[in-house]
Amino acid sequence: MESSKCDKCGSIFKTKHYLQEHMKAHDDPEQHQCYVCGTFYKYRSSFYKHKKKTGH
Ligand SMILES: [Zn+2]
Ligand SMILES: [Zn+2]
Repeated sequence: MESSKCDKCGSIFKTKHYLQEHMKAHDDPEQHQCYVCGTFYKYRSSFYKHKKKTGH
C-alpha cells in the first residue's frame, strides 16, 4: 500500500487527506515550524507551548 509521503520534509501520513493538510502548512509562511522535530503549528502560542514542553 502506498503511503502518503511529503516530498518536502519526508513526513509520512496515514491518509492523503492528512498529507494535503500538511502541505498547506508548507505553503503557508504564517505557520510556525519547530526546526528540531519538524512539527508545524498554526498558532504561535501552540508553538511556544511545544518549545517549552519539549525543551526545543
Ligand atoms: Zn512536509
Ligand atoms: Zn519540536
